[in-house]
Amino acid sequence: MADKRAVLIVVDGMGDRPLIDHDYKTPLEYANTPNMDRLAKGGLVGLLDPISPGVRPGSDVANLALFGYDPAKYYTGRGPLEALGAGIDLGPNDIAFRVNFATVDDDFRVEDRRAGRIRKGASKLAKSVSEIKVESVPGIRTIFKPTVDHRAVLVLRGEKLSKNVTDTDPLEEGLKLVISRATDGSEEAKRTSAAVNEFVKRSHEALREHPLNQERANDGEKPANIILTRGAGTRPSLPSFKSMFDLRGACISGTALVKGIASAASIDVIDVRGATGSIKTDYEAKAKAVIEGAKDKNFVVVHVKAPDIAGHDADFKGKVRALEEVDTLVGHVIDEVDIGANYVALTSDHATPVGYGFHTGDPVPVVIGGPDVPASRVLKLSEASASRGNLGRIRGLDLMPILTDLMGRSRLYGS
Ligand code: ZN
Ligand code: ZN
Repeated sequence: MADKRAVLIVVDGMGDRPLIDHDYKTPLEYANTPNMDRLAKGGLVGLLDPISPGVRPGSDVANLALFGYDPAKYYTGRGPLEALGAGIDLGPNDIAFRVNFATVDDDFRVEDRRAGRIRKGASKLAKSVSEIKVESVPGIRTIFKPTVDHRAVLVLRGEKLSKNVTDTDPLEEGLKLVISRATDGSEEAKRTSAAVNEFVKRSHEALREHPLNQERANDGEKPANIILTRGAGTRPSLPSFKSMFDLRGACISGTALVKGIASAASIDVIDVRGATGSIKTDYEAKAKAVIEGAKDKNFVVVHVKAPDIAGHDADFKGKVRALEEVDTLVGHVIDEVDIGANYVALTSDHATPVGYGFHTGDPVPVVIGGPDVPASRVLKLSEASASRGNLGRIRGLDLMPILTDLMGRSRLYGS
């Protein structure tokens, strides 16, 4: 039997809720998505609860589940996944944090948690931040790396550190910067929180007078004058994707998080020029990489971020546009991968409804097209049509077993 292949397209934040102002339609219902609809019509269609019904998932735990790893067992924090994705070789004692460049006023009140989603010059700011040394806590080295837009990672390396410390990011605008504290009273956690607090304070000193921020002020933009930390964690220990599913995996994503999950699972990360993980992504380049990547791998995950960003920005039109662009990627993939012999699956890691601007606990549509799957005859892929589909309602963790079974690679349970 020929080696069957599969492509899994993860559309970040695709799910949504009907909007009164838009004829009670969701962005997916509103968008013109002929290729997703074609995939849905001839394939299995259903709803997927990323974790379980009603649970509002972060992208970290949701994507772990979609890759087949139970977050209850393997999740050790967002920071280390982002750091792995940024190409930092994390040691077992390192503590990694997810970082945002942000805007604070003179009283350290957070005006913008993303410094206007800064797009240009973040690497220059990061250079200044990476030169900061922690002096109040001996024996600690720091590694600081920018990832995408306003995002970066911080790693503390040294003896006697702990992940049991609180975030400095208040997570809400208008609130003050939070002082990091030890959550377990241990010496290690106290050292770590002291190092974090010093680093954040010094980031403000380094960034406040930075020439790029002067420029931003002149252009009427918000200064990126501090970093905010969150998601402390240690390196996760994941069994390889090959040992879990007997598949040679590749992953294409513009985001550090998804690249980090792939690299923790020993899945090859294919870097694509123009696949930036921001709103401006080159989908043509991404489609080509999927098709190229599928040649010597039998499982390719392609993750697209843009719909989630539009969801967080409460941008209905932007989300419709992002979904329509993803649809062209889906079209290329279906045409090139030979869906008569191979599988193409599409789902999302969670809903990010534009009416809310944050992740909700709603189930999301899931579609699987390929040989010998019963046709749903669903004409238009949407949240509502998926609830009437022929796959029923599954969890994120169920997707990989279903796909490997269709591909003829599952192991017999029992005897
Ligand atoms: Zn997400
Ligand atoms: Zn999100």
